[in-house]
Amino acid sequence: MNKGKKLYEGKAKILYEGPEKGTAIQHFKDDATAFNNLKKSTIEGKGVLNNRISEHILSNLNQIGIKTHLIKRINMREQLVRLVEIMPVEFIVRNVATGSLTKRLGIPDGTILSKPLIEYSYKNDELGDPLVAREHIIEFKWVKSESHLNIINDLCLRTNDFMQGMFRGIGIKLVDFKLEFGIANVDGVDTILLADEISPDTCRLWDLLSEKKLDKDRFRKDLGNIIQAYQEVARRLGIIHEESNISTVKFGKPKAVNIKKK
Ligand code: C5P
Repeated sequence: MNKGKKLYEGKAKILYEGPEKGTAIQHFKDDATAFNNLKKSTIEGKGVLNNRISEHILSNLNQIGIKTHLIKRINMREQLVRLVEIMPVEFIVRNVATGSLTKRLGIPDGTILSKPLIEYSYKNDELGDPLVAREHIIEFKWVKSESHLNIINDLCLRTNDFMQGMFRGIGIKLVDFKLEFGIANVDGVDTILLADEISPDTCRLWDLLSEKKLDKDRFRKDLGNIIQAYQEVARRLGIIHEESNISTVKFGKPKAVNIKKK
């Protein structure tokens, strides 16, 4: 599939023009960043795994009627998606208190929330993606209207419901995650679509029994075995085979073969 010009390059993905108007190609890189770009690294194979995991989750969400930008995965690192006008808000859904919530409010890490909590942050690297209130989003028109914001809240909760069940079934606790939404013209109608990605880069996933972290916190906190944790998630989701190993196989330089003359 032919890629058009580069439209945008983010920390973990690149967006190219797609083959048809209104489409784009989303390319998953191996780059990882944390703490607003202060920590950077390349994790070989991460892009391939996130492409597969995100495809799996978004296509399941499409099937239960949560409309997403995903059209189809086209290769190991790329997906064909609908080009959306992204809203400058990150929607964070939390089931267990950890990360920035515990730091900000002094709540003990691991506190189970009585119901899912939705937080909003304004997507702005220079400002460090600050936490904002619903009223900011409406006042500054980061989302078209209050009713759009209500619809998105509902989509966040439905996505959480579905994902909690899906992960629980494979022995994983869905602690929290981030969603992004955009607007696209679908069959002549402006439609809210779940966009970006859902992967261990954007979720906190803990093993149900051991509470072992299977997500980007392994990178943020220098816990090691990042790719093994992402592979574990993909394996349990049944996306990759038990035996598979996504880490790049490194071949040495070809050596001359000495053939003994008889
Ligand atoms: O850091 P914090 O606790 O606010 O993160 C909440 C959730 O949102 C985590 O799952 C994290 O991976 C995700 N997140 C993200 N992108 C950001 C900020 C948070 O995917 N820019």
